[in-house]
Parts: sequence; structure tokens; C-alpha cells
Amino acid sequence: MPKNRLDLSIYKPGLQGRIVNYARGPVARDVRHYLNVDLPAIDVRLCQDRDYYDGEFCKRAGFKPDDTVGSYTVFNNLHKRINPKIFLMHPQLFRFSRPLCFWRVFKHECVHTAWRCLTISISPNWLFEGVAEHIAGFRLAPEREAYFIFDQDNNCHRVSVYSVINIESGNRHVTDNYLLGRFWVGALARRFGWAKIRQLIISLDEKDSRKDFARKFQDAFGTPFTKNGLQSIYRSVSKGSR
Ligand SMILES: [Zn+2]
Repeated sequence: MPKNRLDLSIYKPGLQGRIVNYARGPVARDVRHYLNVDLPAIDVRLCQDRDYYDGEFCKRAGFKPDDTVGSYTVFNNLHKRINPKIFLMHPQLFRFSRPLCFWRVFKHECVHTAWRCLTISISPNWLFEGVAEHIAGFRLAPEREAYFIFDQDNNCHRVSVYSVINIESGNRHVTDNYLLGRFWVGALARRFGWAKIRQLIISLDEKDSRKDFARKFQDAFGTPFTKNGLQSIYRSVSKGSR
């Protein structure tokens, strides 16, 4: 049993090299393309021990232990944005996910570190997660207005895409945030482009109230953050996809 179960260096050098090359190449390139910012230096740690993952890793990340892909990002000094660390589940622990998932999840976490170079605010969480999901390639075409979503207790519930207006920004690790984020970031990108999304991200402050966010959304896109405003965005982007 390795001493430090989150140390990348204990794993075979091949994977380490691939992670570094992937971050410096395609990830850095996409982060610059979408967010117009350089990827910061990141410390990547892999967890390859199932017991450690189910216990300490999930406790630190605030996850419920399960069989899905797990990862999270921490910053030693949030305000100086230094030493971001990405903790990932080793691909060999993936039970049901395809290996491709590992690279996308890694990219998702890298996008979070780049976001933090634009603003220290991570709310609203649907936008924070949606931007990372979109750039990482987990996308949802904005073609249907509602989705059936399974919650953490496996209960199926119907969620309107317009519930994004009322979603609690402090509500993290909720499936809805990711799916609504994928949907609306896709729609905003298609309707307004990434320069406007970046403008909104830069304007965010961690002290923002829901009202502040609505004002900033209107400033960036010229459309109110209301059901009517979102419906007009949805209609304009769904035409081309039908
Ligand atoms: Zn995330």
C-alpha cells in the first residue's frame, strides 16, 4: 500500500506524462479559446484506492460514495489563486464509466481552475458547473424544454429548464445544476457567443445576491434573467436544431 494514496508520482510514469501533455495541449488550448485565459499551474493527485475513495476522498469532496466518477478541485489560497489542486479518481477505479470519461472529468476540473482566474465567485453553481461541463464536452443540446432527472435518492422528478431562475446558488453537487448548466450554457453560447459568457463570469462577485446576478445577466446578454427572457433565448436557439 503506497504511503500517500493521492500522489500522482507513485503511479506509472506513462499516465503522469499523458496527464501533463493533455493539460498543456488540448486543455490549455480550449481554455484559452473559450475563456481567453491561461490555464494556471495545477497539482494533480489521483486516488487509486477504493476504500480511500469511499471514505476520506468523498468526505473531503462532500460526495456520497458511489460508483460514479469522482473529482474535485481545491485552492490553497483562493484569493491569490495559487496552487490549485485537482483530486481525481484513478481510471482503474471507474467501474461503469468509459475511460474517455476520465479525460473529460479532468478537463472539467481544469476549467474550474481557469474560471478562478477570472473571478473568485463560484456562484451561481449551475453556471460554474455548466461552463466546465460544456468545455469538457459534456453537452446537452437545448432542444427540449424539460428533462426527467434522477435525484440522489434515485427518485425520478421532472425539472423545467426554467427552474434555473430559482436554483439555490449554494446548492452544490446536485444533478440539476449540472444538467441545467449544460443546457443553458449551450443555449447562451449558441445565442450570444463565449465573449459575452466570459463578460458575465468576470462580473461575478462572491457577495452577489440573486438580484445582483439577474442584473449582471441582463448587462451581459441584454435579456432579462426571467422565465420570459430565458424563453426568448430558448426559442431563438431551438429553431435551428429542429
Ligand atoms: Zn465541477
